[in-house]
Amino acid sequence: MRNLKLFPTLGQKLLSILLVVLLLCLGGLSGEENNPPAPIVQPSPAKEEVPIQVLLGKFKPAEHPDFVRISGYNNHPAMYLQARAKAALDSLVADAAKAGIHLNLVSATRNFDIQKAIWERKIAEQGGRHFDTLDKERKINILRDILSYSSMPSASRHHWGTDVDLCSVELSFWNSPRGKRYSEWLTVNAANYGYYLVYSAHREGGHNYEPWHWSYLPISGHYLQEYRRQVTYEDITGFSGAEYARDLDIFEQYVSNVMQSILP
Ligand SMILES: [Zn+2]
Repeated sequence: MRNLKLFPTLGQKLLSILLVVLLLCLGGLSGEENNPPAPIVQPSPAKEEVPIQVLLGKFKPAEHPDFVRISGYNNHPAMYLQARAKAALDSLVADAAKAGIHLNLVSATRNFDIQKAIWERKIAEQGGRHFDTLDKERKINILRDILSYSSMPSASRHHWGTDVDLCSVELSFWNSPRGKRYSEWLTVNAANYGYYLVYSAHREGGHNYEPWHWSYLPISGHYLQEYRRQVTYEDITGFSGAEYARDLDIFEQYVSNVMQSILP
């Protein structure tokens, strides 16, 4: 009978040596001088819960601490964006100008009150003064028509302080030689600054193609996630036609119907 226990094999010897080395290493690491404090992992600010009032546009950008006023390339004096989105846009606009692309801002943050004014003006234009007396089908057709290019209040990305309209909201500009040149520059370069086209061509349904509407994705990607997580049809209220938001499938057909590559 061979006595293997008294005479360990080479493998067993090596295992014992490794075990001793490992124990020595662990002993060394436990010494205080060799034990630097573990890095504190800060949660990314982009992952914080977004207040639902901001998602719904029910706040005043001028009074919100995260929002700053834009100057230098805006069409109206009181235009606001979130500070990070504004800093990125400042760089984008400056670099574009060096390439002969002179961008100006036609719209930035629009809160609920502004969107409601736009929305109800369009209802008055298209539905006449008797919108409320029309039957449901006729009302929904009018609203769907308005939704081609305008968002319902509380369902607009312009509430978030991350989205902008550049140069012109007329397709005729973007189809002109200058507009095409601008569009090509933005398509190639805007992503370097965090900006992405939202309402791309060739989507099914939803808002029409908007070559002017660009979004600062480092913030707005998270906001879309938060919108889908928090906002319900009960929150879509306080303006003419709000009661048809569900019939129009606003969340799926409009809010979430963006260029596939920017969906969170
Ligand atoms: Zn827009």
